[in-house]
Amino acid sequence: MSAVSAVVPIAIIWFRNDLRLADNPALNAAVKWAEKNNGIVLPVFILDPVIDPQLGGATRWWLEKSLARLDAALSKTAGINEKALHLFKSDAPTVFDQLQANYRIGAVFWNRLYDKASIARDTDIKSSLRDADIECDSFNGQLLYEPWEIKTGAGTDFKVFTPFWRACQKLPPPVAPNKAPKSIPLCDLKLAREIDLAALDLSPKPFDWATGFGKRFVPGEQGALDQLHSFIDDRLDDYADLRDRPDHLVTSELSPHLRFGEISPRQVWHAANHYADAHPGKGKTASKFMAELGWREFSHHVLFHAKDLKSVPLQGKFTKFPWIDDPSTLQHWQRGQTGFPIVDAGMRELWHTGYMHNRVRMIVGSILVKHLLTDWRHGLAWFDDTLVDACPANNAFSWQWIGGCGADAAPYFRIFNPVLQGEKFDPDGSYVRQWVPELADMPARYIHKPWDAPALILKAAGVDPDRTYPHPLIDLKQGRERALNAYQEMKRVT
Ligand code: FAD
Repeated sequence: MSAVSAVVPIAIIWFRNDLRLADNPALNAAVKWAEKNNGIVLPVFILDPVIDPQLGGATRWWLEKSLARLDAALSKTAGINEKALHLFKSDAPTVFDQLQANYRIGAVFWNRLYDKASIARDTDIKSSLRDADIECDSFNGQLLYEPWEIKTGAGTDFKVFTPFWRACQKLPPPVAPNKAPKSIPLCDLKLAREIDLAALDLSPKPFDWATGFGKRFVPGEQGALDQLHSFIDDRLDDYADLRDRPDHLVTSELSPHLRFGEISPRQVWHAANHYADAHPGKGKTASKFMAELGWREFSHHVLFHAKDLKSVPLQGKFTKFPWIDDPSTLQHWQRGQTGFPIVDAGMRELWHTGYMHNRVRMIVGSILVKHLLTDWRHGLAWFDDTLVDACPANNAFSWQWIGGCGADAAPYFRIFNPVLQGEKFDPDGSYVRQWVPELADMPARYIHKPWDAPALILKAAGVDPDRTYPHPLIDLKQGRERALNAYQEMKRVT
C-alpha cells in the first residue's frame, strides 16, 4: 500500500453509466469533498458480473473505448502521466469491502441507476458504507427528472407518454449543466486487485467484428460533444420533417453516448433549448427533438416502476400470447435474410455499425413479433447483444411497445406493412441499396417488393430470388391474418 493512501483521506467517485467529466454531480461531490478534507479523489469503475452479465457484445466494444478515453481525460485534468481510473472485475460489494479494509476511505459518491438489480445492490452498499461511518451519497446524473418526481394527479406513476411529458414540462426546466472540474486531486496509487483495461475482456471475440462501428461512432466524452454540436449546427433544422427517414442522416445519433453517460441529458436538453431561443420560428423542430429525450425519460420512469421490464409483459394478458418458437425464422431475421428489403437493410446496418435508425427499428420489430409471430423477448435479446446503445430502459420499453404489451404501446392489431413503410420512408430505395447491395440495381418502383418485379427487370438488375436475394419468409397478407388470429386467440383465453 502506498504511504499516501494510509494517511490521506480518499473520496471515491464510482463511475457507472456516467463516463464523463462535465455535468457529473458525483464527480463534483468527490472533488469538493477531497478539497475540503485535504484528501484525494479515487476514480473507480467496476465491471460487476452480478449486475452486468448480459452486457452485449456491441456495448462491451463501446465501453472499452469509453473507459480508455475517460481514463485519459482524468489523467489530463489531474496533470498526471499515470492511469487515473482504477478498474475492477468483481461484484461491487466485495470491491468496496476490500477498499475499505486497505485504504482510508472517507466518502463514496455515484450517480444513480434505475433497474431493480442495481438499485438493490446500491442500497446495500450505501447502508454498509454509512454503517462504517463513510460518507456516501448518490445523485441524478442520467435523467432530466427522477422517475419518482413525476406523478399523476392521483399520485401514481404514468402509463401514457403524452400526460407524462406534459407533467415533466410543468416542472422547472432541468438545471443548467455544470462544467468539468478544472482540476482533480488524484494520486498515482496502484490498488490491490485492480486490473488493466484489457483484463476486463471487453474486446470483440473471436475476431474483430466491430470495424464498422468505429467508422460511424467516436466513443467518449469528446466524441459525444462533437456529435451534439454537429447535430445542432447541421441537422436539427430538419429534424421534425425528416427524422423518420433512414435515407437521410438527420437524427442526432447521440443514443450510445447517452447510454454510457458520456454526455448528460441536461447538456443535450439545454443545447436544444438554446437553439430554440436563438432561432425564432424553429421551436417546433427543437420541441420534437426534446420530446424524444422525453421518451427516454418515460422509458426510465417505466423501468423504475415495472416489476421486470425485460421479461414480464406490462399487460398481463400477453403472458398467454401464442408465440411461435422457430429458430430458423429468428436466424433469417437476425442475418437480414427475410426477403423484405427494408427489414434486411436494417438488420444488416445493425450488424455492421451497431446502430439502426428508429423508424427501421419499428419496422424490423413489427415484422418479427407480428407477421413472424416471434416472442418480442427474442428481438430484445438480439438488440441487447448487437446495439451500441442497448439500454435496460429504452430497449426493453421499446420491445414491449412493439409487442403491443407495453406502456402506451402500439396496439398489437396495428400491423406495419414493410413494403408501404419502405415506400414512404425510403422512397427512392437509397437506404436499401446501401445495405442490401444485391438489390442496388433494382428500379425504385420494385426495390421494396422485388417479388412483384417482372422477370426481365429482375434479370437486368442481376436479382435471382433463388440465388442472390431470398424469397420473402411469409406472404404479407397471410402473416397479417395469422397475427390477428393469434391476438384474438389470446383475448379468448385471457
Ligand atoms: P434522436 O432522434 O436524435 O433522439 C435523441 C435521443 O432521444 C436519443 O439519442 C435517445 O436517447 C432518445 N430517444 C429517441 N427516440 C427514443 C425512443 N423511441 N424511446 C426512447 N428514447 C428515445 N434507444 C436506445 O437508446 N437504446 C435502445 O436499446 C433502444 N432500443 C430500441 C428498440 C426498438 C425495438 C425500438 C423501436 C427503439 C429503440 N430505441 C432504443 C429508441 C430509438 O430507436 C433510439 O433511441 C434512436 O433511434 C437513437 O437514435 P438517435 O440518437 O439519432 O435519436
